[in-house]
Amino acid sequence: MPTDYDLIILGGGCAGLSLAMHLSHQGALCPKVLIIEKRAHYVNDRTWCFWGTSNAYLKHLANHNWQTVAIKSSLSDVTVDCKDTPYQMLAAEIFYQHALQVIAKNKKIEIHFSETVAAIPNKVDKRWQLIGNNNHYTTKFIVDTRPAKAPQLGESILWQSFYGLEIECANAVFNPNTATLMDFNNNDKTSVCFNYVLPLSITKALIETTVFSTHPIIRENLAFKLDEAIKQYTNNLPYTITRSEHGILPMGNKTQSNDLENSQPTNQDKSYVKVGLFAGAARPSTGYAFQRIQRWADLCAKSIHQTQYPIGHPPDSLMQLSMDKLFLQLIRAQPELAPKLFISLFHRSNTSKLIRFLSDQAKLTDYLAIMLALPAAPFLKQLLISCYKKLNIYAAENTY
Ligand SMILES: Cc1cc2nc3c(=O)[nH]c(=O)nc-3n(C[C@H](O)[C@H](O)[C@H](O)COP(=O)(O)OP(=O)(O)OC[C@H]3O[C@@H](n4cnc5c(N)ncnc54)[C@H](O)[C@@H]3O)c2cc1C
Repeated sequence: MPTDYDLIILGGGCAGLSLAMHLSHQGALCPKVLIIEKRAHYVNDRTWCFWGTSNAYLKHLANHNWQTVAIKSSLSDVTVDCKDTPYQMLAAEIFYQHALQVIAKNKKIEIHFSETVAAIPNKVDKRWQLIGNNNHYTTKFIVDTRPAKAPQLGESILWQSFYGLEIECANAVFNPNTATLMDFNNNDKTSVCFNYVLPLSITKALIETTVFSTHPIIRENLAFKLDEAIKQYTNNLPYTITRSEHGILPMGNKTQSNDLENSQPTNQDKSYVKVGLFAGAARPSTGYAFQRIQRWADLCAKSIHQTQYPIGHPPDSLMQLSMDKLFLQLIRAQPELAPKLFISLFHRSNTSKLIRFLSDQAKLTDYLAIMLALPAAPFLKQLLISCYKKLNIYAAENTY
């Protein structure tokens, strides 16, 4: 006999646990929830960074803050003061532990570990039926956070692939006050390459090599670049590796929350929502998703409380979406421009406005300031190319 729930959350990662935390706060009004998670236990598999704006979620859990950030290239570099909204890091192990503690306070929420639901759920008599590798379940509502499938060429305007190692050096080689968000190196004609350096002390740092490219890149193919980067930052001194992380994030995912036809059983059925990194959580221009997931989890829990129905990620404003898309199209077409664009952006923008823009909180005047900080010519050219392409498509569709 299948066990019945009001809501099943498929995947107990960042999105699944975040929603469950908000539901847990509803006490006795919380529906009967099951989280199905394929992992047996959590490990410190990633670090989440975000800007500590006044309304950033979970910033009190951050295990590191930087009050200055830098962008560097072979031509120039810029360091900006961000002490009012520091760049913050939250280790995944802290998040997972905190989430499990909050969820455990509400007996109406269960988690099944080492359980996998691989198939698309089936709806019979108004209840979804799910087949796990251990049990069968039924539920009225599903929030599906499972990544759709392995990242594929063409499914995102660009992919952000990165591989990083947390290292400890015997000597003092890092400046723990400044996080280097982008240190551009050997950009080629097809991708944007940079290192990301988060110094945790004078001897410890997380060093990541990152590539924005049209195709996703596996860890093994980034290992050489990372090795070179670490040698550079440690002055070739010996070091020990304490942790590693790898990710492939969509930038301009083609299956955003407003375009889900292919990723859920029926796009008409509001009792099933698809969310998470590959379903609208990732900000197109940066790939950042943590704070966007927290905002969604808050809204989704409120919607469940008020209407019983879960909701997907809210669509981005037209202004933000258009700017992100144009930016991505430009660096996809001309990756060699990326260092100049990012340095201009950080050098010429007011830092508060820029951080509001990067944190999805821009006002109209912030968008204007960001546009003015960027060199106009390449954007206008890209805009004309996009308009020309759209006109061609329109003409082709209307030719009989
Ligand atoms: C290494 C790394 C670093 C990142 N750093 C940042 C950052 O600094 N800032 C930022 O904003 N964003 C960052 N991101 C992006 C984003 O915030 C994370 O990817 C985030 O974890 C996405 O949350 P999610 O719930 O969509 O996916 P996940 O957290 O990956 O959760 C999905 C869960 O589903 C489970 N699952 C998968 N398949 C099944 C199945 N068939 N049945 C049951 N369970 C299943 C998985 O085990 C996993 O626990 C990073 C991503 C990575 C990979």
